[in-house]
Amino acid sequence: MSENFEVKVDSKSYIPDPAYREQSFLGDYKAVYKEFIQDPDEFWSRMAKEIEWIKPWTKVLEWNHPYARWFTGGTLNITTSCLDRHVKEGRRNKLALIWRGEDGEERVYTYRQLHRDVMRFANALKKIGVQKGDRICFYMPLVPEHIIALLACARIGAIHSIVYAGFGAEALHSRIRDAEAKVVITADVGKRRGKVISLRSIVDDAVRNAPSVEKVIVLCREKCSVELYSEMEEDFYSLLEGVSADCSPEEMDAEEPLFILYTSGTTGMPKGIVHSCGGYATGVHYTAKYLFDLKENDVIWCTADTGWITGHSYIVYGPLSVGATVVITETTPDWPDPGIWWSIIEELGVTLFYTAPTAIRMFMRVGEEWPNKYNLDSLRIIGSVGEPLNPEAFEWYYRVIGKMRCPILDTWWQTETGMHMITTPLGEPMKPGFAGVPIPGIIADVVDEEGNSLPPGQGGLLVIKKPWPSMMRTVYRNDERYKKYWNQIKDYYAAGDLAVKDEDGYFMILGRADDIIIVAGHNLGTAEVESALVEHEAVAEAAVIGVPDEIKGQAVKAFVILVKGYTPSQKLVSELTYHVRMSIGPIAMPAAIEFVDTLPRTRSGKIMRRILKAKEMNMDLGDTSTLEE
Ligand code: ATP
Ligand code: MG
Repeated sequence: MSENFEVKVDSKSYIPDPAYREQSFLGDYKAVYKEFIQDPDEFWSRMAKEIEWIKPWTKVLEWNHPYARWFTGGTLNITTSCLDRHVKEGRRNKLALIWRGEDGEERVYTYRQLHRDVMRFANALKKIGVQKGDRICFYMPLVPEHIIALLACARIGAIHSIVYAGFGAEALHSRIRDAEAKVVITADVGKRRGKVISLRSIVDDAVRNAPSVEKVIVLCREKCSVELYSEMEEDFYSLLEGVSADCSPEEMDAEEPLFILYTSGTTGMPKGIVHSCGGYATGVHYTAKYLFDLKENDVIWCTADTGWITGHSYIVYGPLSVGATVVITETTPDWPDPGIWWSIIEELGVTLFYTAPTAIRMFMRVGEEWPNKYNLDSLRIIGSVGEPLNPEAFEWYYRVIGKMRCPILDTWWQTETGMHMITTPLGEPMKPGFAGVPIPGIIADVVDEEGNSLPPGQGGLLVIKKPWPSMMRTVYRNDERYKKYWNQIKDYYAAGDLAVKDEDGYFMILGRADDIIIVAGHNLGTAEVESALVEHEAVAEAAVIGVPDEIKGQAVKAFVILVKGYTPSQKLVSELTYHVRMSIGPIAMPAAIEFVDTLPRTRSGKIMRRILKAKEMNMDLGDTSTLEE
């Protein structure tokens, strides 16, 4: 980073209907934030009391930089907050889960049914010798059995490590080995865009030379494949035969691990993030209730996969902890047509829809006639996560999906943070381009490399200054990597992202610190330039990188996907260059623009600028295991 990092931070704002704040669990954001600052321990203690504990804690936080212990002495099992209490408290017949298959097939589970099936599967795992602390690797499609098996692990204190079922055998193999998984849970097939995809053969390859694996549990969805390949394999449903439906929850220390999860691998080799039982349970309950404002009658659909942190926190643990109804589906957004997701919202009455900017931009590209065919009146709140939500996409999402009525929660957070960190709480003005403010419980700032706080309008490094309950506890078998997060910039947590604040304390995320472009001593965040490009009516998506330049050190190179109907031309190049010049300034003007049909992405849909850069420079591509095919 160089000294010079000015960013335009003026933005219009939208004021939501005051009823949102009046009826929200959070109430007045500023007042709650003040309460937190006055007594952080008291604040977190109040939040932790909203989940179920077996033994109460004696101390809220022991902070021994960079190691935190939250709720010391407390014991719990997260599944009692997610299941048992709803069964006890009169929500037993309430729908916990609605699953929708590609062919329209539907399955539903009440809280009582989910509770019973989780306990049964927990006993089945015990039957094959799974014990507390064992690692269980998941490679499963998004079907109810996946959620059941996941909660069953938590029930008996086994540590789950979910691998997105779109990864190849090599990536799965390395994750199985890294975690020394004892059991792998999979299905014979996944279903995607009308095709049946074999998962089991990939697992078969992946478990070779993985000596830790004792069993592979296969959920057979197709009748033809009930025959098992080897001694090692067990059939999901056969395992359940004769098993009791009563399984008391394993008593877990608040600091014992709940799961391992690998980051998306956008900036480099994925990190195996470890989350703890007590702090994580508190964090996801708190944010599901007070930020997403999930109430008794809410139906939440988070379109992420369980293979990402978003799925862990806001498909499974958060929504179930507050007793909401969760929608899961194997469908892809544009198959059989780009109306499928809107039809699901209409039919199931989804009230909270949570998706990613990449999906929003895809929907923009195919046109608003698709969502306009459906009635989206059930929606109350719409959310975004994963990449910066550029103003152009914000406006479209707000108008076409939210009908200028639903607040947008653009949530900034990471696998490492476990829960939402920065967003615009209900009732606060929304500013397109800005994720929002640090939520109560979080102290965030924008600083220079020495950790000095920067004034509004000055871009810099995004840091979190104090520990929070759902922070990662370590990087699995790589504690040195963990320490680096807390030792790079003073004693703060370095998020690895660039940001800028405005006068009201709103944060705009500017991109990854690794991707910073320095043109003649001026810093540029990738998001700023990309957002300016996407503003142009011809541009659907854009990615920018820095390329060496003899005079300026670096120059901007842009890769652009055009909206249907536009064709590449020299005139368009000039127009786009001029457009960036007018919206940001001459410094940001692309020295080159290349029109492309696709951009390299992670399997979670994020643009991988490091791949563009490596290709441009004829360098080694680095870790490509997370690259979408
Ligand atoms: P890796 O750490 O392996 O490079 P990753 O950072 O993409 O991968 P995740 O933990 O899935 O892995 O993603 C977190 C990152 O996603 C954040 O650091 C940030 O860069 C980006 N991000 C998430 N939400 C937002 C948001 N609302 N606005 C802008 N960026 C976001
Ligand atoms: Mg990251």
